[in-house]
Amino acid sequence: MTGTPYATMIEARDIRKRYSTTTALDGVDLDVPTGTVYGLLGPNGAGKTTLVRILATLLRPDSGAARVAGRDVVREANAVRYRIGLTGQFAAVDEKLTGRENLRLFGRLYHLPRRQAKEKADALLERFGLAEAGDRVVSMYSGGMRRRLDIAASLLVDPAVLFLDEPTTGLDPRSRSQVWDAIRGLVREGTTVLLTTQYLDEADQLADRIGVIDRGRLIASGTPGELKGSVGGTRVEIVVEDPSRLGAAVDALRHAVDADPHVVPGARRISAAVDGAGGDLIAAAVRALDAAGIVTEDIALRRPTLDDVFLRLTGHTT
Ligand code: ATP
Repeated sequence: MTGTPYATMIEARDIRKRYSTTTALDGVDLDVPTGTVYGLLGPNGAGKTTLVRILATLLRPDSGAARVAGRDVVREANAVRYRIGLTGQFAAVDEKLTGRENLRLFGRLYHLPRRQAKEKADALLERFGLAEAGDRVVSMYSGGMRRRLDIAASLLVDPAVLFLDEPTTGLDPRSRSQVWDAIRGLVREGTTVLLTTQYLDEADQLADRIGVIDRGRLIASGTPGELKGSVGGTRVEIVVEDPSRLGAAVDALRHAVDADPHVVPGARRISAAVDGAGGDLIAAAVRALDAAGIVTEDIALRRPTLDDVFLRLTGHTT
C-alpha cells in the first residue's frame, strides 16, 4: 500500500476526546505529509496514546474528524485498518513462540497466504537484524529485540502509515539506537510514520516535524531545529569552586569549546552554547581548565530535554 497518491497522509481536525472527567484531547489539528516522520512529544498523560488510538481507529473521537491515507477514521475504519501498522508500548508478540513463528502467525492473522507469510517473515527478520535470533523463543530476547520484532509484525502488510507509540520507552541506550535504525530504514523506503515520545532527543533523531502536546493540546510545532533553537541547543556547563576564578574560567572555556560562555547570574556556574554534541568538547574543556589551574565542582554537557522545552513554552516543567 505504500506509494498511495495522498500528499497528506494523516490529517486531523479539531479532535476532542473526554474520559468521564478527564479531557484527554482538547481540539487537536494535525497534518503529516506523505513520506515524513512526525514526532508527537509530550509528558505522561498528555494525550499521545489517545490521539494515536483515534487515528488507528481503535477509539472514536467525541468530535472532530481525521483522515488517514485518504480515508475517514470513523466512517471508513476498515479501509484505514488495511493501510496502517500500529506498535504500542507493550509488545504484542507471544513470548513462548520464536520470532519467526510470531511473524508467520501474524501474517496468517492478516490473511496472507501461508507461503507469502513465510517469505515475508524471513524478509522482515533479515531486515530488522533478527535473522539469527529468528528461531529462538521471544522470552530469550532483549527489550530492543522484542521491540524490533513488534515493529516487524506491524509491517507484514506493508502499511502506508506506521504508528509507533513510545517505541523506545524502557529500553537501554543500545537497544534504543537499534530501534532508531530500524525506523530510519522504514522511512527511507517511504513509510509515513507518526511516533509518540517523551524524549526530545528521540524526536530530534527521527522526526521531520515535532508537535509538542500538553494536556490534550498541541502547544507548539516545528522542525527539530526550530524547537531546539527555541530552548538554546546543547550547552557545556561548569561550576567552579572559587568564584574569583570565574573570569579566568570563561577565558579558558572560550578557546577550548570555541563558544561564547557566560556566567550564570548569582551562581558559580558558566554556561556555553556549543555546536554538535560530542563528549570531546568536555574533554577539551577539562584540559583547558586544568591547564589554567581552575578547580571545578561539576562539568557537564547539557542537551535540551523535554523539560527545557516545556519550561520555555509553558513556564512549568513536565
Ligand atoms: P503516556 O505517556 O502515559 O501513555 P499519553 O500522553 O499517551 O501518556 P493518554 O494515555 O492519551 O496520554 O492519556 C491522556 C489522559 O487521559 C490522561 O489524563 C489519562 O489519565 C486519561 N485517560 C487515558 N485513558 C483513559 C481511560 N480509558 N479512562 C479514563 N481516563 C483515561
